[in-house]
Parts: sequence; structure tokens; C-alpha cells
Amino acid sequence: MNFQSYILPHIWNLKPYSSARDEFKGNEGVFLDANENPIGSATPEAWNRYPDPLQYEIKSILADIKQCQTTQIFLGNGSDEAIDLLIRMTCKPGEHEIILCPPTYGMYEVSASINNIQMTRVNLTETYQLDVKGIKKSIKPNTRLIFLCSPNNPTGNKLNRSDIYDVLNSFQDGFVVVDEAYIDFSDEPSFIGELQKFPQLIVLQTLSKAYGLASLRLGMAFADPILIHLFNNIKPPYNIGGATQKIVLAALANKTFVKETIDLIESEKNNLISKLDNLAGVIHVFPSQANFLLVKFRDAQKLFDYLISQKVITRNRSNVSLCEHSIRITVGLPEENAYLLKKITDFYA
Ligand SMILES: *Cc1c(COP(=O)(O)O)cnc(C)c1O
Repeated sequence: MNFQSYILPHIWNLKPYSSARDEFKGNEGVFLDANENPIGSATPEAWNRYPDPLQYEIKSILADIKQCQTTQIFLGNGSDEAIDLLIRMTCKPGEHEIILCPPTYGMYEVSASINNIQMTRVNLTETYQLDVKGIKKSIKPNTRLIFLCSPNNPTGNKLNRSDIYDVLNSFQDGFVVVDEAYIDFSDEPSFIGELQKFPQLIVLQTLSKAYGLASLRLGMAFADPILIHLFNNIKPPYNIGGATQKIVLAALANKTFVKETIDLIESEKNNLISKLDNLAGVIHVFPSQANFLLVKFRDAQKLFDYLISQKVITRNRSNVSLCEHSIRITVGLPEENAYLLKKITDFYA
């Protein structure tokens, strides 16, 4: 793949900011190069030194966990940063386009809109799978990005793997993003393993869900080293703070938390599905490979309002095309799920 053809020239040719930490990499010495505070910090813990701009320690551990090279990893302030940078490096406002497959995660559209990039929407099918034919028909010479999300938010299902391959095989004149925010809850292997075969592939993951670090903001993009290098060139130099890096390192060393989370969510999700299936008012519980359920209800809007009045906050998706009458429910703790079920039962009683 000739990457240069699909990257905006001013990005390809950018001379990136060179930080003090880029220019001197040693750990020891008298550091008078970065205008840092020599005393320490206004906090008990010292944060006075700028953090590693390329987060090497985290990447070396992640490379092991994700079975890839450190040079294939970009870390961002949430996945949202990777989405935004990707649009900015590949799409020129008024000229290039992206393809979205709604109903899906809202940030692709928001990020494209912020950057004034046109979108072509190819809706998912009735079963929330890719309309591959429709996608192929929508690919134009100015198409630069196709966003796929699997397992998909807000529908919860995984996309057929063969369909994703089909899209990858039919689009090499730009990039295909596979957003795997919920991959830890899925039985599907990650597409990270396919990066070698498909240089135009970008896989997004996050520590916000299974690792329980939504507040920290750590998103990951896995892609060809050429692309990762460009991400690094255009990101704010210190986009991942030192405190975040330290906590992430501790999180990655914790070998039990993610597994416990996955096990609990799986059993609670199955319990919720079987209970919901037997409740009056429930029309359909959609299959889920994520940590949430999309559920179609009779009087969804009224139920949603009632739940709020009972201090149970869910996500009303009933105004989203193809998600009519549906509410997205995050799987909670056993007592929270029991409370939710009781309130739904009360509502339809
Ligand atoms: C939650 C979620 C993310 C994660 O975003 P962060 O910015 O990393 O918190 C990404 N993609 C999808 C589809 C999501 O649902």
C-alpha cells in the first residue's frame, strides 16, 4: 500500500514538534532543559517532570498482551483522540468522504462533522449486519475512511467476520477502521492479528470498558508502523499524562480484574436476558457480545422516563433509526440488575 497517496500532503510532510524529552532520552543528570519545576509539585506525589511522549513502557507491555509490535501501537486520550487524528490526517474538508454504518457509535459522525468531512451512511441490515453490497456501491474515489464497529454500539452484536474481510478486500484506496471497544466481552478474536495482511486496517480498542478505566481516558489504535508514526507526529506531544501512564501500568499488571469483570458481566448478562425474555412489555432482547443489552420494549419512551423517575438511568435509543422502541441497558452489579428488573416489572404491572 502506498500510504502517501491517502494521507494529506501537509500531514505527510509535517515537521513535528520536538520536545526536550525527544532530544535527550537519558534518565539521569541535571535536567535544566524543559522549564520544569525543580522543587517538585504542589501535590504529595511528584509530577513536575514531563511524561514520556511515546509511552514506551506501556506499549512494550501492551505489545505482549495484544501480540503485536510496539511500533504498531498509538495511545490516545480515549479512542476519540485516535478517531479525530485519523480523520484529520486523511480527509480534506469539502473533498474527502467517510462511510458510516448506522446505527453505530456517535463519535465517528461528530468527529467528521467537527472536521467538516462529508459522510455517506450505509445502514446496517435488519439483523444489524453490514450491508456489504451497499458499502461497495458507496465507495468513491474520494472515500478515505470506512468505520466499522464490532461488537457494535448500540446494538451489541458482532459483525460477521466474513463481511469485514469482504470490506477489507474491496477497499484498499483508503483506510478501514474496526472499532473493538467491546472486544474483551466477545468470543471473537481481535483484528489486530490481521494487521500484517491488511495494511489499510486500523483497529481501535480502549481501557474504558473491561479494564474499568473510563475516567482515565486511554484509547489504543493498532495499525501499520507508518500510520502510527504519523499519529505520533500530529498528536499533542504529551497527550497521555504521567499520572495516567502510572495507573495504566498498574492496571496492565493486574491479571485478574479483567477476567473477573468479563465473567461477572457474562453471567449477569445471561441472567438479565433470561429474565427480560419472560417479562411482559419486552418485545425483543437483541443478542449481545458486549457489556450491554439493546432491548425492544412496548412503550419504550414511557418506560425510560419511569425508570429515570425511579433513579434507574438507561440509554434511550428509541429515536435512533433501526433502534425504534429500544433502550440500551448497561449490565450492572447483581443488585443493580435485580433492581432494574423489579422496576420494569412494576412499570408493566
Ligand atoms: C465506549 C466506546 C469507545 C471508547 O471510547 P473512549 O474514548 O476510549 O472512552 C469507543 N468506541 C465505541 C464504539 C464505544 O462504545
